[in-house]
Amino acid sequence: MPELPEVETTRRGIAPHLEGQRVSRVVVRERRLRWPIPEDLDVRLSGQRIVLVERRAKYLLINAEVGTLISHLGMSGNLRLVEVGMPAAKHEHVDIELESGMALRYTDPRRFGAMLWSHDPHNHELLMRLGPEPLTDLFDGERLFQLSRGKSMAVKPFIMDNAVVVGVGNIYATEALFAAGIDPRRAAGGISRGRYLKLAIEIKRVLAAAIERGGTTLRDFIGGDGQPGYFQQELFVYGRGGEACKVCGTELRNVVLGQRASVFCPRCQS
Ligand SMILES: [Zn+2]
Repeated sequence: MPELPEVETTRRGIAPHLEGQRVSRVVVRERRLRWPIPEDLDVRLSGQRIVLVERRAKYLLINAEVGTLISHLGMSGNLRLVEVGMPAAKHEHVDIELESGMALRYTDPRRFGAMLWSHDPHNHELLMRLGPEPLTDLFDGERLFQLSRGKSMAVKPFIMDNAVVVGVGNIYATEALFAAGIDPRRAAGGISRGRYLKLAIEIKRVLAAAIERGGTTLRDFIGGDGQPGYFQQELFVYGRGGEACKVCGTELRNVVLGQRASVFCPRCQS
């Protein structure tokens, strides 16, 4: 599933080819995504210039002069630029053709993604209740500390709650908790302010490092079938249950928290 770093890298990859360009046509070959693509998307978007490509949580906001295309990559979606008229393969559901001769092509085998239209995207029902962006000053350890008081839920699902902070997926929650030395099973309400300050710093660090690595894939967004995958990075615990901790050698343990698989080191994390 594309996580925040992959979505941010997609934004950086496609934005220079979209911003300032006028849309000539929208071709929809398959409308049935998580929600149906609006029937009138071609009418609404064609002829408009794209002003700005933003990201909010894992949504891409392609802002035109009037209105915004809200796109989500779902479980398996990707966006890349192809030449207009390049034959579409299976699962290549949408082309947004630009006057430059390039088209933004949306591919999504599992069709859990979204392409919606809004005149007020930040107040759209999918976006309006989202917590702060993790890499901004609106998110810090003090926020985690305050919001967690009185909460008995485990700390890992707590930091993965989009109302607390957006974009902390399973990989990044698992790695940040390891780096902060916090047992993911601990009750969120029982963790000290000092440990939350450390945890917020580690969340920012693991996400920023992944985005930085994604920068090496930016050229993959143009032509061919370039599909930047997960960014190669050193994972200390995620996906390593049963293996030795890279820090202390103890066997890493698997546990399920909030219906998500979790791995932690029983010695390094408490
Ligand atoms: Zn360890």
